[in-house]
Amino acid sequence: MHIFDIDGVVADLQPFFIKDLCQHVGCTPAEIDITTHNIKVPGYNISDDTIFDIAVNTTVKYVDEIKPYKHAIEYLIEYQQYTGDTIHFLTARKGASVEKATHTWLNTHLKADFIVHFNADKVQFMRSNPQFNVVFEDRFTTANELDFVPWVYLLNRPWNIGRIAKNHVTRIDSMYLPNHITCG
Ligand SMILES: [Mg+2]
Repeated sequence: MHIFDIDGVVADLQPFFIKDLCQHVGCTPAEIDITTHNIKVPGYNISDDTIFDIAVNTTVKYVDEIKPYKHAIEYLIEYQQYTGDTIHFLTARKGASVEKATHTWLNTHLKADFIVHFNADKVQFMRSNPQFNVVFEDRFTTANELDFVPWVYLLNRPWNIGRIAKNHVTRIDSMYLPNHITCG
């Protein structure tokens, strides 16, 4: 069974997050370092907690505007039709307002049955749920840690490009995959 991360894999949150972060900090998008998953604004005094709060707020505030990544929804529907399985998402998103916004967003874009596992320690979750043997992730560190999962796919994104992933990780540009993978 497959399991999908949401932010950075299915939902393209970043343009809105960058916009709000710039407004909060008073910087320009060019000043933000997006080459790491833990975004930094060099030269500005802003805590990781504040950045996290802005990201959470972005999820709720722009629920009607955030777009799926190209091909992501098509792939999910193709996967669902091929396997007949419910689509499972695994996300670090947490909080009642974010959970509601997440369901609203997915229901808007994805006309299929799905289950979202919120606020998950991903490594712990995957260890406890070995029925999920295919995972799609955009966070470099998480993908590397999932070396006990048979198929780990890392979506190429600006925040993980140029870093050498471990051998169990397959980098991909989008969620179009060979058909044999959908048997997972
Ligand atoms: Mg992600």
